[in-house]
Amino acid sequence: MRADSAEPVRLKDYRVPDYLIDKVELNVKLHPTAARVASRLFLRPNPQVLRPNPQGRPGAALVLDGDGLNALSVALDGVELDLATASLTPDQLTLANPPQRDFTLEIETELNPSANSRLMGLYRSGSAYCTQCEPEGFRRITYFLDRPDVLSVYTVRVEAERAQAPLLLSNGNLVERGEMDGGRHYAIWRDPFPKPCYLFALVGGDLGSVHDEFITKSGRRVQLGIHVEHGKEPQAAYAMDALKRAMAWDETAFSREYDLDVFNIVAVSDFNMGAMENKGLNIFNDKYVLASPATATDADYAHIEAVIAHEYFHNWTGNRITCRDWFQLCLKEGLTVFRDHEFSSDMRSRAVHRISDVRALRAAQFAEDAGPLAHSVRPEAYYEINNFYTATIYEKGAEVIRMLKVLIGDEAFATGMDLYFRRYDGTAATVEDFISCFAEASSRDLAAFFRWYRQSGTPLVEAEGAYDPEARTFTLEFRQSSKPTPGQGVKEPFVIPIALGLIGRDGDLPLKTGGENGASEAELARGVFELAEERRKITFHDIPARPVPSILRGFSAPVRLDYPASEADLIALISRDGDSFNRWQAAQTYASRLLMRSVAEIDGGRNPTQDAGFVDALGTVLHDSADPAFTAQMIALPSEADIARDIGKDVDPDAIHAARDALRRAIGRGLAEALLSVYARLAENGPYSPDAEAAGRRALRNAALDLYCAGDPFEGARLATRQFETPDTMTNEFAALSTLAQTPGEARETALETFYRRHQTEPLVIDKWFALQAAIPEPDTLDRIKRLMGHSAFSLNNPNRVRSLIGAFAATNQTQFNAADGSGYEFVASLVLDLDEKNPQVAARLLAAFKSWRSLETGRRRRAEAALRRAKARENLSADVKDIVDRSLA
Ligand SMILES: [Zn+2]
Repeated sequence: MRADSAEPVRLKDYRVPDYLIDKVELNVKLHPTAARVASRLFLRPNPQVLRPNPQGRPGAALVLDGDGLNALSVALDGVELDLATASLTPDQLTLANPPQRDFTLEIETELNPSANSRLMGLYRSGSAYCTQCEPEGFRRITYFLDRPDVLSVYTVRVEAERAQAPLLLSNGNLVERGEMDGGRHYAIWRDPFPKPCYLFALVGGDLGSVHDEFITKSGRRVQLGIHVEHGKEPQAAYAMDALKRAMAWDETAFSREYDLDVFNIVAVSDFNMGAMENKGLNIFNDKYVLASPATATDADYAHIEAVIAHEYFHNWTGNRITCRDWFQLCLKEGLTVFRDHEFSSDMRSRAVHRISDVRALRAAQFAEDAGPLAHSVRPEAYYEINNFYTATIYEKGAEVIRMLKVLIGDEAFATGMDLYFRRYDGTAATVEDFISCFAEASSRDLAAFFRWYRQSGTPLVEAEGAYDPEARTFTLEFRQSSKPTPGQGVKEPFVIPIALGLIGRDGDLPLKTGGENGASEAELARGVFELAEERRKITFHDIPARPVPSILRGFSAPVRLDYPASEADLIALISRDGDSFNRWQAAQTYASRLLMRSVAEIDGGRNPTQDAGFVDALGTVLHDSADPAFTAQMIALPSEADIARDIGKDVDPDAIHAARDALRRAIGRGLAEALLSVYARLAENGPYSPDAEAAGRRALRNAALDLYCAGDPFEGARLATRQFETPDTMTNEFAALSTLAQTPGEARETALETFYRRHQTEPLVIDKWFALQAAIPEPDTLDRIKRLMGHSAFSLNNPNRVRSLIGAFAATNQTQFNAADGSGYEFVASLVLDLDEKNPQVAARLLAAFKSWRSLETGRRRRAEAALRRAKARENLSADVKDIVDRSLA
């Protein structure tokens, strides 16, 4: 266990390591309860550290990190140290006066992989052995300088009983394998690329394998392997296809080629995160590998494609160039998310992909930014780095890079990327290093832009437009402001790229300015204007009539935009904006306004008034559905959490649910005929294909069914039951079940039972079954969840099960997690405390569901706070959970 230190780790305290480890030789003998790890470390004093050091001693002490280790022996330059006198604890190995020349340290530790329920370090998933070392798991395997700026070349010998683990993998290329006496065998792997220890990986087990080959553009033959549970090999085909497409795409889009002879992916069922980019040996949560039309939805296919690509892209952004310290986490994550978004946009519809990325950003990151867990993209202090694998680091980190590209243009961006790869290959870099490449490529001072990395919170951009018919000018005035966030009271203005167009009768008007309130030629040419100060006015000339402004096209910056568009403006944008994102945004804005009005009416004891104009506008959209995937997005209302965020304070989740339900009913009734005709027209024909176009048709058809059912539950349930009873694909089967799940009664319970019976041998499908039931917005749901926790398919030891049942409840069931009597909060908080003893990382993530508690109405706020305080009072909280509790209550 880690000492509970009262002091955070701070970026400003960063110092280069006193010692370097150039080479690591590991010899790992796998055993279920007593695995032996012998490491030989080749160390030397870091020449970058001035000697004598500031303390005046000839050499600093060598302090190696450990975490609950059991050391059997330690030898310095071949001479065994007396463990009784060496400064050795389970969490640290200190040599007070190490040699000031090259030296070796040999350490042997013994581990119990079967008892490792934290799933960090070496552990077992099923009968397989695997590792997870990011961020600080390597120290649970052996004593080491466990920090990303210590780069070493690894040679790893893995040994195991052949019958138990015929497959033995580690990073790099296989150099030797052989048989041993007593049924044991071994494999030796060597990774020629220096890497930090968080990228170390090892796998041993009896797994089924799928093989393929990829030839890089310079002719390197790369053997690809995906290793899954026996019998699941056919379900790895799509992941393999996605991998090959990702490898080819990175060669064209970023000129990045793969650099080893093999690339292995191993899928395991017990995994804390989504997947891990260990050099040459990615380890995945099986959820992001396994798919077949009968077990995975279109959304699952899209996720698999994205995650496979993401981890592969890390080979350059993360592995070849790594992070100097964990404060730079966004350097690898934000950049790699940006790259996987670009990949998915190229593979699928760019417009639709942008909409779903922004939906996800707002749901997770805007919510984080608005609550007590807000932190900057590049934090300056942390108590527990495990808790910084957040939407802010990943999604906002990607948005910042996207903005940079919008600001400096595609060409300078590409030059900057090339420069970054050239200059920092083989090093542990910082965000400053990264940004400096783009400053150089664009000849721009990016110091003000850098505030996006330092300042947390979502800026608000308010815009107003004024038309002068005599002067034929239209003036837009922008003002930005930022609310205080934890530790950041006052903020400097952000550099915000605002892509915009002015829509006239026949489409976009030419943009012209001049004189006062002008814009630069470059801004006008690209239609992107920079708001770099608190305010800016831009006056457009030769505007024949009052235009409809389309602001923040493509969501050019991660900000909240407030523009008082009239309903007529919104309808104009919905029907004719050339920018698809803003067409969708206008529909969302319209819906959100209606819903906020309804919530106020419900809270005032009135019935929500409906608005025929909005339903008509959606009707027009449905009618003209040239791109079904886009239309499906257009008719999807903002989520209850979106509305809660728009309301911002004194949130009443029951009123939001009622308002949204009423609007869904109104749409279902008002557009019944159109919805039915879409449902009929888009019926499946031909075999399943996961491609974007086919997936789009299914998405629209199922969205139409769902809305239709809201308007006519009886007839809707009949259609949904028919679809459910003749399942062709998991997408359609699960969509029908989701629709049925919204209406209480016999039909729902029968369908749930049938679904379980059909899929009980597929844990990933049963996860969907758990999540769906956890999301039912009814008071009985909590009892249902408690019952399901006793189900044989559930286990508190498996993170996927926990996330699908408890996580889905806390994250998606707005009315029941936030039940007025506090039962939802008490349940989740108690569960977090139980789980904390097994797996603190997963427990802390679950607790982060409380992130919006301060925006609730008084009664719920008090009950949420009481649950958090009860958690805080528990003794021996893990550092992970303690950090989230403390920040949530601060
Ligand atoms: Zn990543």
